[in-house]
Amino acid sequence: MTTNRTFTMIKPDAVEKGHIGAILEKINSAGFKIVAMKFTQLSKRDAEKFYEIHAERPFFADLVQFMTRGPIVAAVLEKENAVEDFRALIGATNPAEAAEGTIRKMFATDISENAVHGSDSDENAAIEGAFHFSGREMY
Ligand code: UDP
Repeated sequence: MTTNRTFTMIKPDAVEKGHIGAILEKINSAGFKIVAMKFTQLSKRDAEKFYEIHAERPFFADLVQFMTRGPIVAAVLEKENAVEDFRALIGATNPAEAAEGTIRKMFATDISENAVHGSDSDENAAIEGAFHFSGREMY
């Protein structure tokens, strides 16, 4: 089933550098509506669960350390074709390979500290949104 929602996080690197406002502006300008949002910090257990698909990858421990080192902004976004369009807006995982004008090209540091998360499928968007928000917190 195709939905019109995706899930994002502004990651600790971008929060530390003061890019929350600029990133939300890019998201709004691209036509996404914010239907849920919170400023929060992941626990180690949260990060391990959220990224469990990567548990066997060599970068997993560093990823968990990075994602828990400071606060994040978590949000659910709504737009037609949300998952695909948001992945285009944020650009490639590695900012060195991301297109000009994408959020990662503009704000990411490197392949691990890459400023933002965007769900990679409608199914994961629903799982990830529910990981952070109850139904009553989504408008
Ligand atoms: N990541 C990393 N090293 C890598 C690949 C990925 O640290 O070589 C981190 C990075 O923060 C990335 C996250 O793991 O955003 C999830 O990886 P994925 O391949 O799912 O990339 P994404 O869907 O976020 O573009």
